[in-house]
Amino acid sequence: MPAINRFAGQKIDMLETQHRRRKLVSIMPQADMTVMKDGKRLISFSNNDYLGLSRHPRVLAAAQDAMEKYGAGAGASRMVTGNHPLYAELEETLARIKHTEASCVFGSGYLANIGIITALMGESDLILGDKLSHACMIDGAKLSGASFHRFAHNDLAHCGALLEKYRSKHQKCLIMTERVFSMDGDCAPLAAFSTLAGEYDAWLLVDDAHGLGVLPSVKTGVDIWMGTLSKSAGAYGGYACATRDVVDYLITSARTLIYSTALPPSVVGAATAALQLMEQDRELCARPLKLARMFCRMLKLPQAQSSIVPVILGREEKALQAAQWLEEKGFLVIPIRPPTVRVGAARLRVTFSALHKEEQVRAFAEALKAGGFV
Ligand SMILES: *Cc1c(COP(=O)(O)O)cnc(C)c1O
Repeated sequence: MPAINRFAGQKIDMLETQHRRRKLVSIMPQADMTVMKDGKRLISFSNNDYLGLSRHPRVLAAAQDAMEKYGAGAGASRMVTGNHPLYAELEETLARIKHTEASCVFGSGYLANIGIITALMGESDLILGDKLSHACMIDGAKLSGASFHRFAHNDLAHCGALLEKYRSKHQKCLIMTERVFSMDGDCAPLAAFSTLAGEYDAWLLVDDAHGLGVLPSVKTGVDIWMGTLSKSAGAYGGYACATRDVVDYLITSARTLIYSTALPPSVVGAATAALQLMEQDRELCARPLKLARMFCRMLKLPQAQSSIVPVILGREEKALQAAQWLEEKGFLVIPIRPPTVRVGAARLRVTFSALHKEEQVRAFAEALKAGGFV
């Protein structure tokens, strides 16, 4: 057997024994937050399309128009000939929503973080990041070559202690955190982090992947907001929002923007239409959090801070078992296991969308109770 096959096979066997093997599950998404899986209709509580905009008629029409006008693909990097006219409107809309001077769009949220962090930071610099930061922030920090330390989750005192210890040995300093944490659904104390950053002459980068469109925009002293257009905006792509100078610098230096093909026109059209709907429809934007809070009240869980509610179960098998039980009852929830979350904290990551009906949320909570999982 070729050595590469032996290597891969052994790795898979080991993950299987640890209940950590990941598999791609084929499903047919439907228009109403349900999916067809193995011929059965399931209500999905595992979708980041928090506002249901990926199916909104205006979003679909904008995608179609853009494609007909400008083609299926962009054909080149934005630096070359890929900067089709739809980008300007998208970037203006983003800057308006985030209350910043300017914005620039990347191929995905992952590419945005890699590009932003490596453009700003280098070997003589210091990066401090929340322990629960998303993989792409961590990869960006590592790739930048800066000294990188993590502080305990949302722990200002720990972040302060690291600043006290390391700040003076470095030139620039970046603090990275998330507005809403993707696996826990809790929020970072941004105003306090902003003050701390100010005290130590550090910059603050906040990942808003799960806040956009679900929590109201805030003006706190964040130097760079980044996020994705693939969740509440229902399309695809990543972005940075900051001052004009910072954005102009990113455009000229972020390698993931310069050396990667621009987004397809349809995607840019769709994202712009979705953001405009977000700006117009406050009630739609408020709905995911309202449903998450209703669910938490029903199960006596701590009050939801976002559209994400973790139901922590402990061992990997328990999370797999709960997901299996719920599937039999007609619900789709993906179990989240280490290394995505810490060992002993395998969980169901439940997400709420404006498209869910209250009866569906109630039935889902009842099923969790009936299975003895809460
Ligand atoms: C999903 C996510 C990203 C990555 O965004 P993509 O557009 O999917 O690449 C970045 N940060 C956080 C916190 C996320 O949840």
